[in-house]
Formats: sequence, structure tokens, C-alpha cells
Amino acid sequence: MKQLIPPAKQLMEQRMTNETTDFPTQGKCSCGAVEYQLTKKPMFVHCCHCTYCQRETGSAFAVNALIEHSNVHIIKGAITSIVNPTNSGAGQTIVRCSTCHSALWSHYGAAKERVAFLRVGTLNNPNLCPPDIHIFTSTKQAWVQLNDGAPVVEEYYRRSEYWPEESVARYKNALEP
Ligand SMILES: [Zn+2]
Ligand SMILES: [Zn+2]
Repeated sequence: MKQLIPPAKQLMEQRMTNETTDFPTQGKCSCGAVEYQLTKKPMFVHCCHCTYCQRETGSAFAVNALIEHSNVHIIKGAITSIVNPTNSGAGQTIVRCSTCHSALWSHYGAAKERVAFLRVGTLNNPNLCPPDIHIFTSTKQAWVQLNDGAPVVEEYYRRSEYWPEESVARYKNALEP
């Protein structure tokens, strides 16, 4: 008899592997001057409900795909980097299209330029990168209902507890000199 897998479990299992044929994939800014390619599946995807992400986007949260900077390639267009404050106090560098100033990705924390936090909404197919975790939900807007099966944490989390092993290894590699 065929065993039925509940959709939420199936989704979790898909999340726990880096194997996919969906990448490389492409994205762009809102004016189209900048186009980029992701050569690999991101390591992990954050849905961040912190007040900085809310203010910066004017929305309820930001969806950021964490990927090695070396796997983000600009196909065309000019970018500008701007330093902004963050929850941690360490600041983030936001990379924007020089023409329309759409935010494309950011560099944060210890990983700095080695890792890009790519704005999932700029992908041509943002459905490729659903959240793997909801973070800073202590400041989540009350109307936002979380029922996508992804783990939920009030603030931040330990990478080793939530990331697939392969992604943990990729992250370590990305930080190596
Ligand atoms: Zn643009
Ligand atoms: Zn945030």
C-alpha cells in the first residue's frame, strides 16, 4: 500500500536537501537595469519579522535567501552599496541597483561579504525559495498567520539546530580564507 506523506512533511523533506534541478536561476531589480544569476540553491532561507526589516521594506517581513557571494553573479547593470543599521547593531551593507535603488541583497554579521542575504522577491521565480525558518517573530505583525510548516523562533537561532548538514558545511567553506 502506498504511504501518503502529508504535504507539510514532504515540504520539510524537500527543504532538508540541497539537491535540485531548479538552479541556476535568475533575478532582477524593479527597473530591469540589473540582472543576476544564482548558480546554486541557497543554503537556507530566513523570513525575518524584525522591526528593521519591516521599516526597510515598508512591509511585514523580509524574505532573505542565504547564499555564498561566489554563487551570485551579476549578468548586467551597475550596483551601489549602502550601509544600514540592524537589530544586532553590527550593521548591514545593502546592495542596490544604481538606477532604481531596489535592494537586491545584503551582507551581514561575521560572514560579511562572503555570504549574500538575497531578497527572494527579486528572483524571477521567488517560489524557489520559501522560508526555511521564521525569525524575530516576537515583533511579528499581529495579522500575519504562520502556517507554512517552517520552524518559528522568537529571536535568532543556532545554525547547527536548523540547517541541513550540507548547508552548514557550505557556510563554513564560504567563511574560509
Ligand atoms: Zn534597477
Ligand atoms: Zn530582519
